[in-house]
Amino acid sequence: MASVEPVGAADVTFDHECDVLVVGFGAAGAAAAQEAAAAGADVLVLERSSGPGGTSAQSGGELYLGGGTEVQKACGFDDTPDDMFAFLKAALGPHADEEKLRLYCDGSVEHFEWFRACGVPFKPTLFEKPGWMPYTEDGLMWLGENAWPYNTIAKPAPRGHRPATTMFAGGILMEKLIGAATAAGAVAHQDTVATNLVVEDGRVVGVVARKFSDRVVYRARRGVVLTTGGFVDNEDMLADHAPILLGHDKVSDGTSDGSGIKIATAAGAATRRMASVEIALTANPAVICRGMLVDGLGQRFINEDVYPGLFSHKAVQHRTGPFWAIIDEAGYEDIDEADMWGVRPVHAGETATELAESLGLPPGALEATIETYNRHAEQGEDPYFHKDAKWLRPLKGPFAAIDPRDGFFGAGRMGAGTGAGGFTLGGLHTTVDGEVLNNSGERITGLYAAGRTASGIHGEGYISGTSLGDGTFFGRRAGRKAAGG
Ligand SMILES: Cc1cc2nc3c(=O)[nH]c(=O)nc-3n(C[C@H](O)[C@H](O)[C@H](O)COP(=O)(O)OP(=O)(O)OC[C@H]3O[C@@H](n4cnc5c(N)ncnc54)[C@H](O)[C@@H]3O)c2cc1C
Repeated sequence: MASVEPVGAADVTFDHECDVLVVGFGAAGAAAAQEAAAAGADVLVLERSSGPGGTSAQSGGELYLGGGTEVQKACGFDDTPDDMFAFLKAALGPHADEEKLRLYCDGSVEHFEWFRACGVPFKPTLFEKPGWMPYTEDGLMWLGENAWPYNTIAKPAPRGHRPATTMFAGGILMEKLIGAATAAGAVAHQDTVATNLVVEDGRVVGVVARKFSDRVVYRARRGVVLTTGGFVDNEDMLADHAPILLGHDKVSDGTSDGSGIKIATAAGAATRRMASVEIALTANPAVICRGMLVDGLGQRFINEDVYPGLFSHKAVQHRTGPFWAIIDEAGYEDIDEADMWGVRPVHAGETATELAESLGLPPGALEATIETYNRHAEQGEDPYFHKDAKWLRPLKGPFAAIDPRDGFFGAGRMGAGTGAGGFTLGGLHTTVDGEVLNNSGERITGLYAAGRTASGIHGEGYISGTSLGDGTFFGRRAGRKAAGG
């Protein structure tokens, strides 16, 4: 295993010099580079791949923003930073970082305007349906704000902002952010992987990197900003810190190997919330909102209209699988073809008993779940889990079941085949300005981090758009602070 230990400045010869060296050209890196360059710093960005973008470019491109953005106003929503804070504190908790969260919510309208200034297009229309991401170009979507218990905690407003394209919008997002960083003057060195920090008198002053078989050393006069992504692609780190993700699919571009976290901890950096993860069950919210999600005992365990990441967390972390999305004929026919994501039910039955036998569920279990659900749905209520009345309707045979392990996009069983995948949320312990702290809570001078390399606003929960959201928000702050020296 190659050493990740820091190298003394006296032991290296510098090949390149800049004010601010950003390591990793994903969303957090692009945001840091743009701000540092706009503040007048001479900025270099190291990127291990042959092109920029990282996982961010492959993502859905959803950005969790609110507090009264122009898109929210155009769609008729009167949102406030306080409501956004109350929702996120509950949904990202327990143990969301309240200091970071407060800044994130208070600065959200300005952050939205920064995306617009970078050229990211947003269509001022609302996608009203439940889903992981819209198949339309709508610029705004609900992410569970209108579901119980969150609708009792904060005034509901949709806050999922999306660049104007159908389905995955990360490509457009990154094209614009990379363009903005480059236009501000940041220069990228690609195929260049950072392997160690360079230190001098207790300060981080640069990075040792490898470009193919060459060693290249960079001096950073004002600061190094680590934005190398998380560690879902590093099995050893997962085993040590976030074993819940072991065996599941990797929600990443394959470069999230924790390298930034490792070279920083080798130089004395502290970490935070390393066990926090995002985990997504590939269950289709369009199906389960109209039907139900049951576990391996045929039991419901959550209101199915909640943000899909939260039903996924509950399933994978607290219940026994396999999980089944159950739907009846009327519900199935109500779903737009595009909203099925190419998935088809592989189990069906005229009655609940026939379906349960096909699924191998304990005798009587699914029947009891459906009978109870229907009895309450007839009254327009769900006293167990508080699913919204608009999704409540007695389910009548014939029934079908969709297996999350069948994946999305009609691709059939792929990857790990567990029906779940995720990424890490924990990382380096930073201040609100991205300054990396050591285990004594002191700043490591010259070292900054953002994006999934750092621990951001998240506690134990996750809502779509908060990874790109907090990565760019705190990436910008880290870039500005580093440029200030
Ligand atoms: C399919 C999919 C959908 C998603 N949808 C959403 C969504 O809609 N909204 C949302 O908020 N999040 C979403 N996510 C999660 C989100 O994309 C990531 O959490 C986020 O992009 C991380 O951003 P980052 O800048 O920290 O890292 P990245 O975007 O991964 O960037 C890190 C960069 O650093 C480079 N790098 C790594 N190590 C080194 C090194 N040692 N030296 C030099 N370079 C290095 C990598 O090559 C990469 O380019 C999704 C992810 C996937 C895969």
